[in-house]
Amino acid sequence: MRLILLGPPGAGKGTQAKMLREKFRKPQISTGDILRKSVQEDTALGRKAKLFMNAGKLVEDDVVVGLIRERLVKEDCQSGFILDGFPRTIIQAEKLTETLKEMNLSIDTVIDFQVDTDELVNRLTGRSTCSDCGAMFHKISRPPLKIGICDGCGGSLYQRDDDKEETIKKRLEVYQNETAPLREFYRKQGNLKTAQGDGTVEEVFARVRAIVISI
Ligand code: AMP
Repeated sequence: MRLILLGPPGAGKGTQAKMLREKFRKPQISTGDILRKSVQEDTALGRKAKLFMNAGKLVEDDVVVGLIRERLVKEDCQSGFILDGFPRTIIQAEKLTETLKEMNLSIDTVIDFQVDTDELVNRLTGRSTCSDCGAMFHKISRPPLKIGICDGCGGSLYQRDDDKEETIKKRLEVYQNETAPLREFYRKQGNLKTAQGDGTVEEVFARVRAIVISI
């Protein structure tokens, strides 16, 4: 099972990727999570990435491709993986194909999440994330039992710097210009599947699961 989750910010890729990880016991690889960890740890990579992330821009292709190459050779990826938030440009997609080819592998399916723009903005502005386990909540649709505290692990919840309204607009624009063309890229390869991203987390997961078990 080698999957790519594709879709705009707020489409639910992160939440669905974590649910797939639990259900199918495959590693979830999120370049956003890896970069945020580097920012938290204040590494050289993190300091550089933060400037792009807080401006709603993409981190340079070479940097993220390097991170993914290092990650995919690890033992836990040998029986499959779920890519969440990578690739985000045609160059990244081409480099991924190349890297997998060197490993005699290829992607099975790309799941493209479709959600209205108004709904995306609503989801992103109301979203909070656990600083320990990365679980996501929403002030209306998925409020935590205790304000500011993760239901799962008790970690503290925070609003991502890039989930502010101005940055969200920029991220959606970047998605349209740089990432949306990947749909065509994977459609031509014959492995693009669409999942409606509206409804509850569980409803979306039922659609995603149906796609995965049909592979
Ligand atoms: P995400 O958590 O996937 O929404 O990613 C948060 C931010 O990290 C993005 O807005 C980008 O600045 C950066 N980022 C994550 N993945 C990538 C990627 N594949 N290519 C470039 N930048 C990325």
